[in-house]
Amino acid sequence: MSFADLGLCTELLKSVAEQGYEKPSPIQEQAIPAVLGGRDMMAAAHTGTGKTAAFTLPMLQMLSAGKPVSANQARALILTPTRELAAQIADNVALYRKYLNLKSTVVFGGVKAGPQMKKLLPGTDIIVATPGRLLDLYQQNAIKFDELEILVLDEADRMLDMGFIHDIKKILKVLPAKRQNLLFSATFSQDIRQLAKGLVNNPIEISVAAENTTAETVTQYIYGVDKARKAAMLCQLIKDEDWKQVLVFSRTKHGANKLTKILDGQGISAAAIHGNKSQGARTRALADFKFGKTRVLVATDIAARGIDINLLPHVVNFDLPNVSEDYVHRIGRTGRAGSHGEAISLVSADEFDLLKDIERLIKKVIPRKTLAGYEPKQELPESPTTFKPFRAQKAKKHNPRSEHHDGQRGAKPAAQKPTSARRRSAGGQAKQGKDVWASATKNKSQNSSRPRPVSGNR
Ligand code: AMP
Repeated sequence: MSFADLGLCTELLKSVAEQGYEKPSPIQEQAIPAVLGGRDMMAAAHTGTGKTAAFTLPMLQMLSAGKPVSANQARALILTPTRELAAQIADNVALYRKYLNLKSTVVFGGVKAGPQMKKLLPGTDIIVATPGRLLDLYQQNAIKFDELEILVLDEADRMLDMGFIHDIKKILKVLPAKRQNLLFSATFSQDIRQLAKGLVNNPIEISVAAENTTAETVTQYIYGVDKARKAAMLCQLIKDEDWKQVLVFSRTKHGANKLTKILDGQGISAAAIHGNKSQGARTRALADFKFGKTRVLVATDIAARGIDINLLPHVVNFDLPNVSEDYVHRIGRTGRAGSHGEAISLVSADEFDLLKDIERLIKKVIPRKTLAGYEPKQELPESPTTFKPFRAQKAKKHNPRSEHHDGQRGAKPAAQKPTSARRRSAGGQAKQGKDVWASATKNKSQNSSRPRPVSGNR
């Protein structure tokens, strides 16, 4: 199947070809014709499946057939939880709309509203926004929705986790009733289905991502190492293996800052990205990393969510995440779109319970390696080779009404041992070694019920 077979116009085919996309991904194959047909949609798909193009391409085609937008109006709204995601989606929209006479704008919190208001003055065909800032702009009459035709809720599960439900409801109230709705979520939990009830109308349901899978294109391994030697070992690995672009995950902001300093001190250029950094610093750090100016980007989980870097070769878990599912999200930053990637975890003995939980979730014992000179004094016990299923648990809710949210406010220190509340449901569904780019299955939403955790220390 080609993009042309999906009914896309020549202008879009041209920009898609410029991006080097040879054929549509599974979600694109399913979503593009459905959206072009005017259907509402619920899609279970996470970042890395090509979902942005799946909704953006048909949206652009539909908008290009309509009337030009009026002042301060928007014809399509893409709501997304974080500034990074908003900026990334907006970048993609700008690339795809290159040969069409359409305008797009992005708005998010943490930066001045004035310039955003100015950009909205002539109207915009597509606005990409985080919920809080969009509401602020609406309340100041900078954006109006009388001409709105299409609404996309992207990463809906994450938006609910981040406490945006009230903002979303307020936004829905001011949109015209007659519109096309597209809802994207990593999963269809009960909360998402509840939200969908008042939102989508006779939707087509699409699911492309098996739950908690790790792609075959990612080689995973762990190094057992004493906690105090992790930073030195990482420097050694980066130098020995000559890694040029490494995304390193740290459980805490403080840890991320500390590690960045150590790496820099060793002549390895590094930057940290987390909720305490200003928007400007985060954007700069990401851009420098993408373009190879910085070799290592040290990130907390939420700050890194959705970071879209083509062909990112290495992801390192400096600490294992408290929430096992975050391991899957973290390593999903590499090995994307069919390219090969490596995910390396530095694991100290006190993290063994976290490791066991992760291996149980992905139903796989991660191969181990040792680095000469860094053999741990406190050895990592052997992993069990049989996996008991996780018990499903309801996610705890909190309500941070802030786009600066990084999941870290009021954070408790990281516990050594995962509590049952941190253990997440895989419902025994994890299928190992599946590549989401090759695993499209229609109407599998019943497999997608997973409560999302809210961890206090990411
Ligand atoms: P997304 O899931 O939207 O975050 O997309 C993940 C990555 O896949 C992005 O870097 C896109 O540029 C890339 N991508 C999207 N569609 C295709 C395609 N059909 N072929 C190859 N790469 C793609």
